[in-house]
Amino acid sequence: MTFYNPSIETLPLEKLRALQNSRLKTMLQRQYEQIPFYKKLFDEKGIHPKDIKGVEDLHLLPFTRKEDLRDNYPYKMFATPMQEVRRIHASSGTTGKPTVVGYTHNDLEIFDEVVARSLVCAGARPGMKLHNAYGYGLFTGGLGMHGGATKLGMAVIPVSGGMTDRQLTILQDFKPEVMCCTPSYAQTLAEECKKRGIDTKELAVKYAVLGAEPWTETIRRQVEAGLDVTATNIYGLSEIIGPGVSQEDFEEKGTGSYIWEDHFFPEIVDRDTGKPLPYGEEGVLVFSTITKEAFPLLRYWTNDICSINYDKNAKRTHIKMSSIKGRADDMLIIRGVNLFYTQVEEVIEQFDFLIPNYQLIVKREGTMDKVQVRVEVAEGADPADAALQQQLHQKIKNTIGLSMDIQLEVLGSIPRSQGGKLKRVIDERSVVF
Ligand code: ADP
Repeated sequence: MTFYNPSIETLPLEKLRALQNSRLKTMLQRQYEQIPFYKKLFDEKGIHPKDIKGVEDLHLLPFTRKEDLRDNYPYKMFATPMQEVRRIHASSGTTGKPTVVGYTHNDLEIFDEVVARSLVCAGARPGMKLHNAYGYGLFTGGLGMHGGATKLGMAVIPVSGGMTDRQLTILQDFKPEVMCCTPSYAQTLAEECKKRGIDTKELAVKYAVLGAEPWTETIRRQVEAGLDVTATNIYGLSEIIGPGVSQEDFEEKGTGSYIWEDHFFPEIVDRDTGKPLPYGEEGVLVFSTITKEAFPLLRYWTNDICSINYDKNAKRTHIKMSSIKGRADDMLIIRGVNLFYTQVEEVIEQFDFLIPNYQLIVKREGTMDKVQVRVEVAEGADPADAALQQQLHQKIKNTIGLSMDIQLEVLGSIPRSQGGKLKRVIDERSVVF
């Protein structure tokens, strides 16, 4: 099995466009008729859904932003009566009050379908068992992966996040072939295996599907070695559907993640001007959910920074997105230089004496913003070794263009993920003493 839905996943591009165009028109009509927020927005712009011929006209239409969802909290962005809604989720609220999203029966079928496609892409097959360590609850991760795995024909072990002892017992005794969780929690599990002398050869797990937070090759290397798995990236957000908006193929690692663009039409726009950018350029990822019934969003500004492009050598025809550098509002501006924490993570990869357990602490000294990098050293390396500190300092300066204070730490000093997303940046500038 290479594909879950071969006819759609390999649909020639012109047919994919025709499908997207007709779906977009239906979505716009639904939004105009059912959601007062969109009717007002279109009327103000003097645009009628009928004026839009297809996805090439999307740039004429306004964006939908997180604030719009908050202003319409909880249900005013729903396009269907509650009698047709079958599930309600909310974003994890990483950046403020949660946003509430709803699904009809058909929306849930689509959710299951895109997650099933993603799981196949990650290496999972019917008959395998999924250790699902994403949180169950309002967060879309747990139930989202659960539904897609069930649809694919897997046996789901609904472990949910946290309680690491239990996770390890289940990995050892239940013998799942596939696991999913955040990359930072996969790091925790890998470390705990090592600490407890668990022989990963005795585990059955072969594939790890990791997402919900930015991560780089540095963490992939650590998790793959530590758990003896092939790790791929899954991306998603509750506003668009949840996990399974895009997924990396296990045989095409490092070339980006397929966006299931028959359901989620992507654009990359300039973060300051909102102008669409050409394929390959980095900017803000924007999605139109062209098949959603209960919660259809037009040009939703995800705030996530990446690029998109077609890959002619790929198995599927759908466009790929690069891994997320970070959220636009998580970008630090330090002495005029833009900084995402994933850039530091990439530098860490280049040193064998470092482990990607790290934290950035941002401070203000006088009028100067300063960044301190706390990072753990591998066994056998000395955290007090000034030469090692200097090497990292110099590499960061050459690569990122900033002088940072380096604080090397012994293994185990920096907080780990206890099951969910991990906060890598501590910004002390806003703290009032
Ligand atoms: P919240 O915005 O409250 O965290 P969600 O749980 O819906 O709500 O999280 C969605 C966000 O998580 C995305 O917008 C993105 O910033 C991040 N995210 C999800 N998957 C990935 C991934 N694979 N790589 C990087 N970031 C991701």
